[in-house]
Amino acid sequence: MNIDKIKLILADEPAYRMKQVWHSIFVDLIDSWDKCTTLPKVLREKLNAEAPLEIACEVFGSQKSRSLKALITLEDGNKIESVLLSHRDGRKTVCVSSQVGCSMGCTFCATGKMGRERNLTVGEIVVQVLFFARYLKSEGKENNRITNIVFMGMGEPFLNYDNVWKAIRIYNDKDGLNIGARHISISTCGLVEGINKFAKEPMQVNLAISLHAPNDELRSSLMPVNRLNPLDELMFAVKNYIAKSGRQVMFEYMLIDGVTDKEIHAKQLIELMDNKLFVVNLIRYNPTGSHKSSSATAIIRFKNLLLRAGIKVTQRQTFGTDIDAACGQLATKNKKK
Ligand code: SAH
Ligand code: SF4
Repeated sequence: MNIDKIKLILADEPAYRMKQVWHSIFVDLIDSWDKCTTLPKVLREKLNAEAPLEIACEVFGSQKSRSLKALITLEDGNKIESVLLSHRDGRKTVCVSSQVGCSMGCTFCATGKMGRERNLTVGEIVVQVLFFARYLKSEGKENNRITNIVFMGMGEPFLNYDNVWKAIRIYNDKDGLNIGARHISISTCGLVEGINKFAKEPMQVNLAISLHAPNDELRSSLMPVNRLNPLDELMFAVKNYIAKSGRQVMFEYMLIDGVTDKEIHAKQLIELMDNKLFVVNLIRYNPTGSHKSSSATAIIRFKNLLLRAGIKVTQRQTFGTDIDAACGQLATKNKKK
């Protein structure tokens, strides 16, 4: 499905046509133009031939972890992945990609190992959510809708800033998917320029920072971006955002055995977390080759040190390691074939 092509075909039609079509795509969630009976037959046939609604996709399910992964094939043959996470409390989160691959080169990340192919178009970002919206509808259960969106799939969203925001406006559209800004989060590896721009946006989208290490030496060794924007610059930008928005910021911290999970790291992290609106989200490292993930005991020990210091801590539910539902792993495997 190509949203730009659809728009192009409808450009010569009266404005109400686009409204009808938009409603059919984003509210009725149709997957074939034949279901759009309000359109004249000729137009339907043209759309069917030139801009079909099908999304080329393979789905991988994980019963155990309540997650589903969609591997979407783009028009140029590149593949991207998105994941639907069904939380125990009923929330349904779609984790979307913003780029094919990623140029930031974080050593622990499978997507990073692919390098960057290209930015996704607005349509390519939007269809990832649309795919799962249709999927949930097809299950036929009541209230089965997407509640949250996180930009935590492949790619660095702030390197595709404009398209990411255009896609967010489409997700948020009251006459479409109608997903509230406060239910949408962007995760960045810490690009200060992007954070400063983000701080000026009027919409109340959430900000998450992939911190993963509490000192410059360690962070630079894991995340090359830290050499460009070291911790003091990063924290300054985040605090500036908080001063403007008054909103909470989530710091993602990944526990890698013997690398980021020592007591000294917890102490350094506590020092950095000197704002009431900071929250730490502990993530278990998903082994991608180079390191081992921390043991359950080490994670509890680390978490307790933070809690005792009065830091707000959450822990990411581990979803779908059995289907590689994290960080570009499946797409990388497919590329290698
Ligand atoms: N580029 C953005 C968003 C996509 S990555 C960013 O880095 O924030 C989504 C999250 O998964 C990030 O927090 C990232 O650091 C983390 N991640 C990457 N590789 C991982 C791995 N092997 N195990 C666990 N989390 C990982
Ligand atoms: Fe890119 Fe994020 Fe992976 Fe780093 S962690 S390589 S920024 S996708």
